[in-house]
Amino acid sequence: SAQKPVLLITGGAGFIGSNFLRYMHETYQNYHLVNLDKLTYAGNTANLDLLEGAVNYTFIEGDIADEQLVQRIFAKYDIHGVIHFAAESHVDRSIQDSKQFVQTNVLGTLTLLQVAKQDWEEKGVLKERRFHQISTDEVYGSLSAEGKFSEDTPYDPRNPYSASKAGANLLVKSFGYTYGMNIVISSSSNNYGPRQHTEKLIPTIISKALKLEEIPIYGDGKNIRDWLYVEDHCRGLDAIFHHAPPFSTYNIGGGNEVQNLEIAKTVCSLLDEIKPELLHENSLTSFQELITHTKDRLGHDRRYAVDDTKLRQDLGWEPQEALSTGLRKTVRWYVEQWEGVTAP
Ligand code: NAD
Repeated sequence: SAQKPVLLITGGAGFIGSNFLRYMHETYQNYHLVNLDKLTYAGNTANLDLLEGAVNYTFIEGDIADEQLVQRIFAKYDIHGVIHFAAESHVDRSIQDSKQFVQTNVLGTLTLLQVAKQDWEEKGVLKERRFHQISTDEVYGSLSAEGKFSEDTPYDPRNPYSASKAGANLLVKSFGYTYGMNIVISSSSNNYGPRQHTEKLIPTIISKALKLEEIPIYGDGKNIRDWLYVEDHCRGLDAIFHHAPPFSTYNIGGGNEVQNLEIAKTVCSLLDEIKPELLHENSLTSFQELITHTKDRLGHDRRYAVDDTKLRQDLGWEPQEALSTGLRKTVRWYVEQWEGVTAP
């Protein structure tokens, strides 16, 4: 495997990164995948059980902002491309305390850029090797009822998380402008699917329901998000990493704009079907009875939606998973995990 091109995947023990590693491992045999992850509260190596012991996979526990470590990785492996997922990713945490968001999302990204640039420049491959920045539609701000974010929408982040991601993206772009580095940026809408941390909306709904606890929904629940099945995201990233022109940006959407309250109701209905005995034992007719409205999130963006025409037209990508089937798979996966833990 020493001859295989090496890809450095950061944050591969998290939700999207682990799904991406699994996807790449199953789709390509000709890469060596190096996963650099700090294993924060959000990282979980159990997400990568499929890859354990695989010859074409190496896990390195460490911080993307640790310049010496990143230099050692580039010295040891001839890194052919970086796909950069590692981030502090939870908006609510950034509202409580944003320093770590700047440290990881901004300074960590800068560290990766600097080390990659230096290594690739020394090897004379700066224009060939690709740095792919994983971004979010939240950098564009918030929408009212009309319109969608395009790749040209100016950044207008509204919370410390999205501000730190926008800052990182601007540094990535600057390395393209200033040094001619081969960068691409993709901004996706809300992902859902297996292996997402329970702090996020859909896993929270499922885990609260299974514990028969109140399901908290911010404010009136009418905030709209566009939901993208994580495997569809991974296929989009594959297409962009391999085929997008240098210095391009792409939006990746799910085409599923839904109010948060509707998502909660749909997930509860699926659980009603999958776990009817839990309802009956507890004299409930539906898990929807557990839904409770809580005080709204500070600066809660009303609506996100991305226009991903460019990705569809340039690279022929389109999402394959309908929201109904994707949610069903997701709910089933969490129920299986939960049953595995609670089984006598
Ligand atoms: P996650 O929180 O599930 O995973 C983040 C991973 O990064 C974890 O494994 C964590 O241990 C690791 N990490 C954190 N700080 C690190 C550091 N300093 N050094 C090395 N590793 C570190 O996040 P996610 O939901 O999988 O998101 C991955 C990326 O995708 C992020 O860049 C995020 O901004 C972006 N994104 C997420 C969504 C979404 O809906 N989840 C949507 C669009 C974009």
